[in-house]
Amino acid sequence: MTEESAVLYVVPTPLGNMGDLTRRAEEVLRSVPWVAAEDTRHSGPLLKQLGSQARTLAAHHHNEHEAAARIIERLQAGESVALISDAGTPGISDPGAKVVAAVRAAGCKVVPLPGPCALTTALSASGLLEEHFLFYGFLPSKGSQRRQALTELIELPYALAFYEAPHRILETVADLATVFGERTLVIARELTKMFESIHSGPLTAALDWLKEDSNRQRGEFVLLLSGAPAGGDDGEGERVLKLLLAEGLPVKQAAKLASAITGAAKNALYERALALKEAGGGGGGG
Ligand code: SAM
Repeated sequence: MTEESAVLYVVPTPLGNMGDLTRRAEEVLRSVPWVAAEDTRHSGPLLKQLGSQARTLAAHHHNEHEAAARIIERLQAGESVALISDAGTPGISDPGAKVVAAVRAAGCKVVPLPGPCALTTALSASGLLEEHFLFYGFLPSKGSQRRQALTELIELPYALAFYEAPHRILETVADLATVFGERTLVIARELTKMFESIHSGPLTAALDWLKEDSNRQRGEFVLLLSGAPAGGDDGEGERVLKLLLAEGLPVKQAAKLASAITGAAKNALYERALALKEAGGGGGGG
C-alpha cells in the first residue's frame, strides 16, 4: 500500500445479525493492516470469523487522543486503518468522532462506509410522519437533569430519537410521559436480534405496556417520539405560562392556569416552568 492510498475507513458493524455486515465492510476489514476497535476483545471474534489478519489497537472513549496519534502514525507510514465500534456506526453515541477529526486535521483521508445503525434502523420502521427528526442519543442518567433536557425539546416539531439502556427504560419513559403528555411513542427493542420488537402507541400508555411484561424491559432500545403538534399547542401553552410567571404567579399555579387556558399538558408546563425559573427567565413567584 502506498502512502497516498492509506486511508482511515469508518466501518459500521452489525447490531446483532451478522448478515448485516456489508460486503464492502467485509472486504475492508480483511484487507487493512490495522483495525482500531472500541474494544479489541469484543471485536476479536468478528475479525477472526472474517479471516482478517489485521493487527488491532484500542480506540475507546478514554484514550481517543492517544489512539488518534497512533492511527495518524500508521496512516503516515502508508498503512490503512479501519475504525470500528462494538456495534453499529462509530461516532454515533460511540467513540470515533475525535479520531476522525484528528485524522482529517492531519491531512489524511477518511472514507466512511454506510451500514448498520440503530437510529436509522428504528426510524425506518417507526411510521412517524414528521419530515424531520432530531437525534438526541442518550439522555442524562440523573432524573432531574433528564427532565430538564427533555423540557428543552418540548416545542420542537420534529420526531425525537433517543437511545436507552434496559436499566433506565422505565424511568425514562415515565419522564417522557410527564414532560410531553399526549404523543406517540415508538419503542424499538433488540433490533435485528431474536427478540426484536417494535411497539407503537400513545406515550401515556407506554409505561403500563412496559410494566405488563418484564421481558419488554430487556435488551437495547431506541425510543422515537412524535414531534410537537403543528400549530403549536405547546407553544401557546408556554407563551401563556411565561406571561403568568412574569406576573409573579407561583410555578404550580402558573402551570395549572396555563394548562386550563390552552389545553397543553399540565405536567409538561410544570416541568417547563421549573426549568425557566432555574434558567432565571421565568419572572417572579415560586
Ligand atoms: N453506534 C451505535 C449505532 O450506530 O447505533 C450505537 C452505540 S450506543 C453505545 C448503544 C445504544 O444503541 C444502545 O444502548 C441502544 O440504545 C442502541 N442500540 C444498539 N443496538 C440496538 C439494537 N439492536 N436495538 C435497539 N437499540 C440498539
